[in-house]
Amino acid sequence: MVQLQQPEWVYMRGGLVRWEDAALHISTEAITRGLNVYEGLKGYWSEDVSRFGIVAMPRHFARLRRSARLLHIPVSESYETFENACRELVQSLSEPSRDLWIRATLYVVAGHWGEGTEADLVLTAYHQSKERPAGTKIGVSTWRRSSDDSLPARIKTSTNYQVARLARIEGRGRAYTEMILLNQWGRVAEATGCCVLLVRDGQVITPPPSEGRLESITVQIIASLCATLGIPFVERPVERTELYVADEMALAGTLAEIVPIRQIDDYVLPAESPILTRVADRFWAAVRGSDPHPAADLSVVIDTR
Ligand code: PMP
Repeated sequence: MVQLQQPEWVYMRGGLVRWEDAALHISTEAITRGLNVYEGLKGYWSEDVSRFGIVAMPRHFARLRRSARLLHIPVSESYETFENACRELVQSLSEPSRDLWIRATLYVVAGHWGEGTEADLVLTAYHQSKERPAGTKIGVSTWRRSSDDSLPARIKTSTNYQVARLARIEGRGRAYTEMILLNQWGRVAEATGCCVLLVRDGQVITPPPSEGRLESITVQIIASLCATLGIPFVERPVERTELYVADEMALAGTLAEIVPIRQIDDYVLPAESPILTRVADRFWAAVRGSDPHPAADLSVVIDTR
C-alpha cells in the first residue's frame, strides 16, 4: 500500500505553500462535488413571517444516513445534533424577506480508499426567493444516469453529480434551465437535480427509484397530497416519447419545489396545467404552514409568536 505522508510543501495557486496552509474553501466545486454525502433541505417562513419551519427534517437525516451507509462513511452525529446545527445556522442567517435552502454535507475528512474513514458534518445555507417558480423549458440530455451497479442514484453523494454537470452544460447552449437524464434502458430517470412528474389522462405519473432516480422526499410528499386531493398518482416506467405527448409536466424537488414545464426539446406543452397547479397550490399551503399536511412535516426552528 502507498503510504501517504504529510510533506512540508505543496504547490498550489502558482507557488509553494506549507502543508497546513494548503486548504480549499468548503464552497468550491472541488470540495462540494468531492467525496461526501449530503442533503438539501428547505426552510419556509409562514405567511405572517412569525414562524420558520424546515420541511421533513427526520426524513432528510434518515436519507443522509442511508447514503453514508452505502458509501461506508461513518455518521457520528445524532439526529438532535443535526437538528440543533440547522437551528443555529438558520437563526443566525435568516432574513424575513427570504426563505433558506440548507445544504447538510458529511465530508470525508480523513482516511484513504475506505480505510480509516472519518466524516465531518458541514452546513451551509443560501437565501431563496419566496416567489413560486415560473414555467420553464427543458431538454432531454444525451448523457445517461448511471446504473445501480455503477454509481447508484439512491446514494446522494456529490460525485453522482458529474453527469448532471455535463448535462447542464449541454442544455445551457439551448437556454434549457434543466435537463432530463435517461437511464441505461433509454427511459426517463430524473432531471439533474429533481424528479419528473407528468400527467396523462388525469393521472400524475413519475418513474420509480428503480428507474434510476433519487428516493425523493418531495415525490413522497406529492404522492400524499394527491391522495388527499383525490388525484390518481402512479409510479411506473416512463418512456421519452411520453414526455412529448404529456398533458402536463413539472419538475419536483426540495430546491426546485414544483416547476411547471412549458416546453421540452422542440415540443410545447399545453398552456394550462390544471392538475399540477392544484397539487402545487396544496404543496405551497403545506410548506408555508397555512394549511398543514402530515406529509410535509415542519420542524419549527424560529417562532416569534
Ligand atoms: N433527484 C436528484 C438528482 C436530486 O438532486 C434531487 C434533489 N435532492 C431530487 C431528485 C429530489 O429529491 P428531494 O425531493 O428529496 O429533494
